[in-house]
Amino acid sequence: MSTSPASATAPILDASAPPAEIAASEIAQSGTTFEERVAAYETNVLPDDYDFDPAFTVDENYMILALIYARLSVSKRGNMACIIVEPEEAVSASTAGDTSLAAVLDEGARPTKRARREDGATAADDPFPRYPGRILMHSNNTPEPLPDEANAKLNAQKPMKKGQTAKKEKANESAFQRFAAAAPELHAEARAICVAASTPGMSLCGPRTTAYITFPPCNACMPLLLAVGVKRLVYRQTATPIAHAQCQLARVEYVEFSDRAHDDKLKEHVKAWWTARGEGKEETRARVERWWLAAEKRLSGGLPQAISSPVDATTTAGPIVGNGSRGSDLTPPIAEAPEEGNTELSA
Ligand SMILES: [Zn+2]
Repeated sequence: MSTSPASATAPILDASAPPAEIAASEIAQSGTTFEERVAAYETNVLPDDYDFDPAFTVDENYMILALIYARLSVSKRGNMACIIVEPEEAVSASTAGDTSLAAVLDEGARPTKRARREDGATAADDPFPRYPGRILMHSNNTPEPLPDEANAKLNAQKPMKKGQTAKKEKANESAFQRFAAAAPELHAEARAICVAASTPGMSLCGPRTTAYITFPPCNACMPLLLAVGVKRLVYRQTATPIAHAQCQLARVEYVEFSDRAHDDKLKEHVKAWWTARGEGKEETRARVERWWLAAEKRLSGGLPQAISSPVDATTTAGPIVGNGSRGSDLTPPIAEAPEEGNTELSA
């Protein structure tokens, strides 16, 4: 069978939303039934109806939004999200008009608080006119589930550790569902960068481009963020000394929300937003289960024949297996730090 370039590349990054549609947020603001929410809250559709709270800074508000968004992740390993923003004003008033990046970094300044946009910007100009600055890209961590035949191969590659016991089979649970928590996935930062790379004209390298991430970037995502040219990182908890050094070398400012009480305050807002939409943890779990059932149905046809070229087939693995195993050796920070508010689904 011949392999065209299109068929060889299409399934690899089978994201739930194509790049052209990722920003087209059409969230139903008054969805009250479960069915309406399932229809409205897709995994990589950023809610466009969070009201920035003037009691919080822009950074804090964006983190609340990222936490709200993280709950739309359908990963069974834990949830995280990344929102990449170009601030409206590059520098706060405190830097006395010096707009150089160095001045900002030296003074550790943060973007000034901005009111909701009232300039009549339309959805065509900015898909998120409610939020200050401009959201360049966003994603949450996104599983790339595989058909059962590929799951079996991945399982075979990973011998059980000493003392580890086989996961108990649940009644009515298919092999696909059993593998869900181990399915390869793209972290939120990596996927946001991938979607940007596949979007014509999109750059994440602006004068103050800021990435809001619900956890410290892992060892794989941090170099991606620095290489792509973001200028600020804002995340919860504390990164490793190595990550700090990497940021300093790249002249990238990092802001850590490491205070537990402060974090609880942010998460209260997240909970309130979801509660106002009538969705508790059970409904969120049910939404996630529905996504996996749909994924199983979608992938029940197995691996497409056209993926592996004869050359690849003579080596160890075809491209899709390489793609799948790429993520499986990473340890996402979410797995190490399960926390209320955005990892409740991993329990
Ligand atoms: Zn990562």
